[in-house]
Amino acid sequence: MKTKQEYIDSLRELDLKVYMFGKRVENVVDHPIIRPSLNSLAATFEYAEKPEYEDLMVATSHLTGKKINRFTHIHQNSDDLVKKIKMQRMLGQQTASCFQRCVGMDAANALYSTTYDMDKANGTNYHERFVKYWTWIQDEDLVVDGAMTDTKGDRGKSPSMQDDPDQYLHVVERRPDGVVVRGAKAHQTGMVNSHEVIVMPTISLRPEDKDYAISFAVPTDAEGIFMIYGRQSCDTRKLEEGADIDLGNNTYGGTEALVIFDNVFVPNERIFMDGETEFAGSIVERFAGFHRQSYVCKVGVGDVLIGAAALAADYNGVPRASHIRDKLIEMVHLNETMYCCGLACSHEGHATASGSYEIDMMLANVNKQNVTRFPYELARLAQDIAGGLMVTQPSEADLRDETLGPYIRKYLRGRSDVATENRLRVNRLIENLTLGTAAVGYLTESMHGAGSPQAQRIMIQRQCNMEAKKALAKRIAHIDDSLNGENTEH
Ligand code: SF4
Ligand code: FE
Repeated sequence: MKTKQEYIDSLRELDLKVYMFGKRVENVVDHPIIRPSLNSLAATFEYAEKPEYEDLMVATSHLTGKKINRFTHIHQNSDDLVKKIKMQRMLGQQTASCFQRCVGMDAANALYSTTYDMDKANGTNYHERFVKYWTWIQDEDLVVDGAMTDTKGDRGKSPSMQDDPDQYLHVVERRPDGVVVRGAKAHQTGMVNSHEVIVMPTISLRPEDKDYAISFAVPTDAEGIFMIYGRQSCDTRKLEEGADIDLGNNTYGGTEALVIFDNVFVPNERIFMDGETEFAGSIVERFAGFHRQSYVCKVGVGDVLIGAAALAADYNGVPRASHIRDKLIEMVHLNETMYCCGLACSHEGHATASGSYEIDMMLANVNKQNVTRFPYELARLAQDIAGGLMVTQPSEADLRDETLGPYIRKYLRGRSDVATENRLRVNRLIENLTLGTAAVGYLTESMHGAGSPQAQRIMIQRQCNMEAKKALAKRIAHIDDSLNGENTEH
């Protein structure tokens, strides 16, 4: 396994094409806006090095028998699924942000079982290719971005019906040694901190969409790939000299980018689906299912937010006010409810035909549906408890100013035994999580990541077996279907 330092060093060797504010980023690893997100991802290596976290962070590969980082593991039983979410909650607590590495893990687990099913149905050899590729990923302990979301153009039209055929990534040329693809993937979490990218289709496809049924892996610095960095609210605060308090979290962060695939060549041995439109839905459903389980990461971030809200109350001198206590209890209740669903869908996991384990789809979708709502309520309660100062307090530069500083310390003090600076710090953390750079990960990503709320409702409807529930009601109410039919009551 790589150490944190080896991971960071390995990123320096990539020739990533990243653009921000209209210019190419020359040094991606040390860029002040990007670096906090790299630190979050690096935590997935850092914690794997700590003996006390080994049980969560390290797994044994079923492919090689070697110790591997759990983020590269193909889940072998329900216990693996449970450890996965415990690891994610823990890393959410440590970073208070998105640590990005889950998408590649979820993509790999979706592809592992789907390539197996494809080969069984069609006699292809995608599974063997994928296993070979993924064994290399495990051995090298690489970071893989999972790229699903196409830009989609006119949402009312299927991929092949779009006016611009590139709105969904597709094959534009076939060669004996591979294919050339073109398109873009939006909202790519962690791509700038990854070595490799696995591309998958974004929706179920029909036979006429054959060229869109493509899944493959390429290095993130492959010829033809470039990224346009996503802005986050308050991102340029990170460019301020010595920025600390005003960042709320000066160490960790998340990252998204629009990734363009401008005629990228993919060699045959890295293609895991090509034309099997009937299996596109399986990849999407399985990846989404695993990623909807993964959103337990937000529970870890929620733990930090609850702690911040409780500290804000302490510093304001009102920790025992009954309404404050009740709001904190509500926050804990919502947070643990998300955890319950994450645990439940993991414990109820089942073996796929390939032997790997997948989550219970219904419960994973319920989990993510809760995640589209509860963090917003947690954020509202944290802002309620913190008070308006969270968004009106002066900058760190004012606090450090010789003339203004003493006034700020005097008038923005809460309890007299608590330093004003600490009160300002906790407010900035709440601002960061609910309005600033981390709100991308904690709120909007909770809404739309792994599929927007409606996507889960469709799955919940599909999984719920309403007819069986109607049969239960009929049995209890002694409903006799034979009485129905002809208009017998008149
Ligand atoms: Fe992992 Fe959560 Fe970030 Fe998704 S949002 S990559 S599950 S930390
Ligand atoms: Fe996500």
